[in-house]
Amino acid sequence: MDTVLETLRSVFAYADFLPGQRDIIEHVLCGRDALAVMPTGGGKSLTYQLPALLLPGVTIVISPLVALMQDQVMRLNEQHIAATCVNGLLNEQGRETRLQLVLRGEIKLLYLAPERVVMQKFLQLLDRIEQRVGLSLLAVDEAHCISQWGHDFRPEYRQLWRLRERYPRLPVLALTASATKQVRQDIVEQLRLIHPYIHIASFNRPNLQYEVRPKTLNVYPEMLELLRQHTAESIIIYCATRKAVDELSQRLRQDQINALPYHAGMEAEVRQKHQELFISDQVQVLVATIAFGMGIAKPDVRMVIHYDLPANLESYYQESGRAGRDGLPAHCLIFFSKSDRYKIEYRISQLHDMQARRFARYQLRKMLTYCESHTCRRQIILHYFGETGLQGPCAACDNCLHPVEMEDRTLDAQTLLTCVQETGEHFGLSHLIHILCGVEDQRVRAYNHHQLRSYGAGKQLSPDEWFYLGRELLFEGVLEEKEDGFPVILLNERSREVLRGNASVLIAKQQKLPDARLDPLQE
Ligand code: ADP
Ligand code: ZN
Repeated sequence: MDTVLETLRSVFAYADFLPGQRDIIEHVLCGRDALAVMPTGGGKSLTYQLPALLLPGVTIVISPLVALMQDQVMRLNEQHIAATCVNGLLNEQGRETRLQLVLRGEIKLLYLAPERVVMQKFLQLLDRIEQRVGLSLLAVDEAHCISQWGHDFRPEYRQLWRLRERYPRLPVLALTASATKQVRQDIVEQLRLIHPYIHIASFNRPNLQYEVRPKTLNVYPEMLELLRQHTAESIIIYCATRKAVDELSQRLRQDQINALPYHAGMEAEVRQKHQELFISDQVQVLVATIAFGMGIAKPDVRMVIHYDLPANLESYYQESGRAGRDGLPAHCLIFFSKSDRYKIEYRISQLHDMQARRFARYQLRKMLTYCESHTCRRQIILHYFGETGLQGPCAACDNCLHPVEMEDRTLDAQTLLTCVQETGEHFGLSHLIHILCGVEDQRVRAYNHHQLRSYGAGKQLSPDEWFYLGRELLFEGVLEEKEDGFPVILLNERSREVLRGNASVLIAKQQKLPDARLDPLQE
């Protein structure tokens, strides 16, 4: 048997590799730079832990969270693997003791926080390690933190290239569970990876069924009914705020649902208790803020409900991904309302950094596309993560299971897009519709828009029909809304394709009844 497999079995006690692990490990062992993009639970840690044992010197692991770092080191020590961490929580003496162990060659994995690595004193210490026992590998966990396009930007990560500069021959393995194309590129550039081996695992979770329902005034009774139909199953409900978590869990208990709250504002002991009760099936429903889940793995969660809208698809993927870890069918449901959207937009408007605001808005738009589109939700998620392999309906999302009737609206779409173009992408939907329908109001006259070619060019449809089409084009991403929250319609790459006649536009047939997806709280 080869050494790699033997180590996997004898030290880690796994029978075989998970998909992708072996390839990454072998490239790392050859001294090649690598980038591993795998969903949470995909088994990323092993891809540096195993090489660390086979390589001669020390493997440095950069990890952003002290809690995760300590947890990993503890688990490795239980498996009799020589690992330690140095972080800001240790005093001078504690740090010294551990570093001596490293210098004596008694440690294979040294976990570090990113800010430590760039301190001059620490770099000198790394030099000593390099001289005495040798550095074998630099593993950068949660590597998306390096990118401003990621959801968790950490400026300290931007300094990590200094290690590459200082130790040019030290191979680098970057790992992340969440990387769009942009983030991936950023990781490779920022860490100065050289011809890296890139492994991108599929993010598809075939056993998860996706659904979005409108959050109507009746959302609470609707959810209660759902919980009552599934009393034998473990369920997580996510809310946006601690207050909402407290209120909802209390109300559910009053309605005889076995539910408990879980959020960062609770005493650690109580929170721990609630977590244990949930994991041991003594509590059915855990109502949580997004803080929930750090390190908690319950394989048989059958449903994850978002009572409030998540701010981006990365967090939605992570949170909904806690369902069905055992591979059995599970259900991911969002109750979607426009008012949640405005709350998130308000939070974004409070961000100080312009770049961060722009990016958060982009992410929110993608989240809204997920909720509002009529196309396959699984494909929207996978496309977001740069995965295009899945074609056609998935048979496990509401849009694929209950498709609405679609019709070709390319010509009408072109008429509307032309109007957007002619008016220089400065106006909102209602003004554009006034132009198309030939309404000569004050605003139209003030801008001389009654002299445009578009003026009156859309009289075949009623303003209401145009409004419907405009909204659908936004939902399907054939039009964009301006990022700063003003109701201004913009063209994008897809609109240009449609204008050039290179792409057609399929739109859900307009229902005569009020659209069930509209939010009665808002519209
Ligand atoms: P990630 O960092 O990608 O989220 P982890 O490294 O924490 O994933 O691994 C996820 C789970 O899979 C852990 O419980 C780990 O013990 C387990 N695991 C990792 N490699 C294997 C393997 N080869 N066989 C079985 N289980 C594995
Ligand atoms: Zn689908």
